[in-house]
Amino acid sequence: MENVITIKAFEDNYIWLIKDSQSQHCIIVDPGEAAPVLTMLEDQQLIVDAIILTHHHYDHIAGVDALLSARDEQISIYSKKKLFDRSRLVNEGDSLSFFDGRLSLRVMDVPGHTLDHIAFYNERLLFCGDTLFSGGCGRVFEGSFEQMFKALSRLARLPDNTKVYCAHEYTQNNLIFAHHIEPKNKALLNYIQQVSKKRQQGQPTIPSTIGVEKAINPFLRCQQQTVINKLQSHLGKALNDPLSCFSALRKYKDNF
Ligand SMILES: [Zn+2]
Repeated sequence: MENVITIKAFEDNYIWLIKDSQSQHCIIVDPGEAAPVLTMLEDQQLIVDAIILTHHHYDHIAGVDALLSARDEQISIYSKKKLFDRSRLVNEGDSLSFFDGRLSLRVMDVPGHTLDHIAFYNERLLFCGDTLFSGGCGRVFEGSFEQMFKALSRLARLPDNTKVYCAHEYTQNNLIFAHHIEPKNKALLNYIQQVSKKRQQGQPTIPSTIGVEKAINPFLRCQQQTVINKLQSHLGKALNDPLSCFSALRKYKDNF
């Protein structure tokens, strides 16, 4: 087993530190900044085995060089694209083993937000960068709506209790749009209350779970009649399939 430690970066990024429960070894996910990570490593006396990167955006990788030069240990870097000299390239279906086999993470291609976007996951955990957020999803910058829709649909098929470690605290903002789309969704109304309590106490709302997201996140609910009706009345035309529905929803939120 392992513990996942939250490290805040920039305004609303999360860098995740996965710590082995039986040793001081750890892995870092998407270090956009080095300073808060270095502080955590020193405070907890940790040894970094690897850095895993979900995609190439600055706020996910900008801390890598400073981390490598500040630390003495041999740190492997895993990503889909070659972003650093010592990057080890990974692909859909690869399985990475850490902490003497106590942690394994599989790689899933999830293009859409960027073309090199990957997620790391196992039966309990999902590190999905800027693909799935709590209550929302990433903007489609490099890929197509179809790629993003397929990526999100694959993530939605993970077990309901999978913990979702996305890279930003966007939840409260996302829920304003989610509520606009499904104002009568009871699970969503409950979740809005929980999230607002957590934020008032200065707590992160992440991790979420796949089960929660399927109940409250409109981007995973493109087959729901309530969502389809809302979009059809917004656009004044029929939407005949889930992909058209997803694309309409993403464009709606981009301008919301
Ligand atoms: Zn990004």
